[in-house]
Amino acid sequence: MSCSVRRVKLDHATDPEKKLSGTAQVFAREAHIRSILETVPDAMIVIGEDGRILSFSAAAERMFGYSEADLLGENVSTLMPSPDRERHDGYLRRYFDTGERRIIGIGRVTTARRRNGATFPINLHIGEARIGEDRVFTGFIQDLTERQETEQKLHELQSELAHVSRITSMGTLATSIAHELNQPLTAIANYAETARDLLDNPDAETLALVREALDECAQQSVRAGQIVRRLRDFISRGETERRVENLDRLVGEASALALIGSKEQGVDVDLKLDPTATLVLVDRIQIQQVLLNLMRNAIEAMEESGARQLEISSLRQGDGWLRVTIADSGPGLAPEVAAKLFQPFVSTKAAGMGLGLSICHTIVRAHEGRIWTEPSRFGGTAFHFTLIDAGRDGNG
Ligand code: ADP
Repeated sequence: MSCSVRRVKLDHATDPEKKLSGTAQVFAREAHIRSILETVPDAMIVIGEDGRILSFSAAAERMFGYSEADLLGENVSTLMPSPDRERHDGYLRRYFDTGERRIIGIGRVTTARRRNGATFPINLHIGEARIGEDRVFTGFIQDLTERQETEQKLHELQSELAHVSRITSMGTLATSIAHELNQPLTAIANYAETARDLLDNPDAETLALVREALDECAQQSVRAGQIVRRLRDFISRGETERRVENLDRLVGEASALALIGSKEQGVDVDLKLDPTATLVLVDRIQIQQVLLNLMRNAIEAMEESGARQLEISSLRQGDGWLRVTIADSGPGLAPEVAAKLFQPFVSTKAAGMGLGLSICHTIVRAHEGRIWTEPSRFGGTAFHFTLIDAGRDGNG
């Protein structure tokens, strides 16, 4: 017995443990496992060969809504939705018969079931150990609900914002479209003039040429129409759609995007949102684009700063407007950009396009608001912009 027990000894088991009898060793190990169970954030469930639960960690209790006492001796399939629930005993049997590992030591994303019947996505890792003649399986479970929701949400936001960037770079695009449109329009003008001149001396030959010129005019008009249609398709999702939106939500979502990775840079983020300033009349995607640009600029500006303080605040001005402020503890504005900050192609960054703030300006102005800067109380820059106050959640 002691020999087979030694096979499950933890690699880093201490010398004193070796001196324990087999049973004492099992107890010692159990105490060890229990101490781990209490502390790991992932749920940990130990089952025997028959699929019955031997141990259920505190995190598992929180995750599944059962207490350990409820589940000791119960089949682990209780924690699974159909069809795994009905099939789990079969999975175990198949494993004992064939030794084929489909999940043990591999891990997989699957679905589990809480006490209240709700199913949720999990990341499941299973380890196997032998205790004497018996085998036990330990499952580590991470709840992916939030992670999946967050990732999906971020993904949606990112694709929407990418679309907005396309639309807001329209200013630049307009130049090339004007150029493109110019070509068929010039051609039409030329052909029309030629046709008119040819009609001065109409004969069979000139009439044939007039027909040709008019055909060309028609074709070029179709081409111009196509260019316009392409442009319309391009911006079709970009028509501003102003709705009453919750400002806290807009700020929350935009900061989630802007702050990705900023923890590593040690940015101290503070949201100071006026509880009476909750509703705004905006195009959600566009205003998120403004928030995102301003937050990213602030984070970039603080890259070299000792203290990295980012404060996003809102204030109900009481005159029909709300003010949103993004304040940082960066170096402040470089004098050469300060005067023409909101103009396109103004940048102090090696890889900067200098379009971010001009886009912000365009969007805020399209919302009839104002955008301006001041030194921030953290010694850096504060960007303020105003939005139409649409009242307060709950009582309008
Ligand atoms: P880009 O970020 O591509 O340079 P922007 O229009 O967003 O374009 O910004 C223009 C310039 O304004 C930046 O290059 C930078 O010099 C300055 N700037 C913007 N935000 C800040 C800030 N929070 N602190 C200091 N300078 C800033």
